[in-house]
Amino acid sequence: MSHPFPIIEIDRFSGFCSGVNRAIKAAEEGLKRYGTIHSLGSLVHNEEEISRLRKLGMEFITHEEADGSKQVVFIRAHGEPPETYRKLEDQGAVVIDATCPVVLRLQHRVRESSRQFRESGSGQVVIFGKPGHPEIIGLLGQAEGNALLISKKEEAELIDYSQPLHLFVQTTASEAEYAELCVIIAAKSRQQTGRSDMVTVTNSICRQMSRRVPELKAFAARHDVLIFVSGKDSSNGKYLSGIAREVNPETYVVAGAGEVENWFFGAASIGISGATSTPVWLMEEVAARVSEIVQSNK
Ligand code: SF4
Repeated sequence: MSHPFPIIEIDRFSGFCSGVNRAIKAAEEGLKRYGTIHSLGSLVHNEEEISRLRKLGMEFITHEEADGSKQVVFIRAHGEPPETYRKLEDQGAVVIDATCPVVLRLQHRVRESSRQFRESGSGQVVIFGKPGHPEIIGLLGQAEGNALLISKKEEAELIDYSQPLHLFVQTTASEAEYAELCVIIAAKSRQQTGRSDMVTVTNSICRQMSRRVPELKAFAARHDVLIFVSGKDSSNGKYLSGIAREVNPETYVVAGAGEVENWFFGAASIGISGATSTPVWLMEEVAARVSEIVQSNK
């Protein structure tokens, strides 16, 4: 039997993080000023938002397509390696740099640590993150070849423990996985050097990301059904929707209102949440569709 008046609530902590919000605002201002701007890669992993920006005049290009013929080039929140800035400067491009300040700070720390190791003649930066992710490409670029990327704990074997190590982590990585990796690396370093001062750990996971997990768990637990709105390519969306499903097995992932099905028989409360790349307007559209379906169930 369907519930007569189910509650439909949008998760107030979901939606764009401050870095993505800032990038979208910078893009909108750039579009007003220049008409057309070229983003190096997709701005957010959300097809609906991308299509809205396209209509405003934004074009999405690869690094190879930034060939000097594109006047205004937009750098998204993930950031870029120094090489990209050099190339764009040589081409005389106007650069709109929307690198998130949190990522910029991390880039700076990786660059400094790598410089200090180079000057002292020993030491390596180790970054835990996803190979090929644009933020990781940007971070590796800061270290100018003196950084090792680790994407899973088994790869801790690849590290040369005879030297000092400085560990960093991608801003969107899992806290639990990073904590486990740090323990493994510290133990191996102690075993091989007999010293406990050879490993420096920086927890560079974005607080907006780490806070999202407990907030989402609480939200998913208090609703009978959870609709998670996320683009298909969003790694943050996959990660967060997996966490929501662990708490609430009645979790359904949709890219937009058109994918909502009738999952609501007997539900007294329905929650709508989303990834850090999901715009609020899209969650509002999904909420409106849920409301229509619920009405038709009466
Ligand atoms: S998740 Fe954090 S680091 Fe990444 S863009 Fe958003 S605010 Fe910046």
